[in-house]
Amino acid sequence: MREGRIPHAQLFTGISGIGKLQLALAYAQYLNCPHRTDEDSCGTCPTCLQYQHLQHPDLHFVFPIVKTDAGDTCNDFLEPWRKIILENGYFDLDDWHEALGVETKQSMIYEKESGEILHKLSLKAYGEGYKVMIIWQPEKMNADCANKLLKILEEPAEKTVFLLVSEHPEKLLATIQSRVQTIRIPRLETEKIAEALQRKGIDAAKATDIARIANGSYLAALKKADETEENQQELRDFIALFRDAYTVGVLQDPQKKYESLKRLRQWSLDIADSKVGRERQKHFLQYAQQQVRENYIRNLAQPELNYQLEAERAFSTKFAPFIHDGNVEAIMNQLDLAERQIEQNGNAKMIFLDLCLQMIVLIKKPKK
Ligand SMILES: [Zn+2]
Repeated sequence: MREGRIPHAQLFTGISGIGKLQLALAYAQYLNCPHRTDEDSCGTCPTCLQYQHLQHPDLHFVFPIVKTDAGDTCNDFLEPWRKIILENGYFDLDDWHEALGVETKQSMIYEKESGEILHKLSLKAYGEGYKVMIIWQPEKMNADCANKLLKILEEPAEKTVFLLVSEHPEKLLATIQSRVQTIRIPRLETEKIAEALQRKGIDAAKATDIARIANGSYLAALKKADETEENQQELRDFIALFRDAYTVGVLQDPQKKYESLKRLRQWSLDIADSKVGRERQKHFLQYAQQQVRENYIRNLAQPELNYQLEAERAFSTKFAPFIHDGNVEAIMNQLDLAERQIEQNGNAKMIFLDLCLQMIVLIKKPKK
């Protein structure tokens, strides 16, 4: 920008939760602030304020929607859109679906939107600055819509800037990819994420653990911090499963074996309960796979490779030796199989009871 070379179409890419959309917004504001310095926009002029409230007449948004009675183009969903940005800041497609109140994952940018985009960009600019068209998740664009935008991406109108914000640029049509300048946004530094979590009141040790698990995504860190309650339940379920599987499979005391077997049966009924729901069941099975992996890696005695919270580590100190070369692959396969069967609407009671029986067999397998 300092050199006066403004690309007319840029693609900001990177993993979810690193602030790509915020960066696009800040860039758009910078582009238009009449008082900008070499470093930043002024942040206080009327233009900056309009941008910060996402209300500038030359700032336009395109994002995936689901056609409902509420409407069929992005214009009809601007209110929840502004709200999720201003209130959440960091969010992903799932959060957006939740904000829209839709359960389906079939949101998209429909063909009709291309007409809206062309119309908006044909209008006279409100101010002296640039017209900015931010397209969030352009990979959700229907092919007809994408094709209709090729020409304007190739030769945009004067003082018009397209900012595409994508997590999956490989899913964009090649014809779109070739018309945009790609900017890769890196993962955030773990220390920065930990600092941000601490500013939200999370204590330093926990913030560091969560930041490491989040692997560069602030959104993942926020979700992990939020999940703590659910996490504790999943950890309790994980411990219950393997403790009783161990008792039945390895210990000799028949009475204890009997009691553990009964508990496992109840465990499978509880987790299979329809009130728990398939999403939570799947999430638990993913969590269990993650923990099995962490326990296995723990045996390598390289703590920097471990990504666990304190309570998880506490269980692992005793449990990790039982996950080894002789059984880790088979255990992971069984958990993965159960996850897929749940996904395919299999009978949850049978799936979880079978999982218990498999764990009894696998936990006593000898090391290789
Ligand atoms: Zn300003």
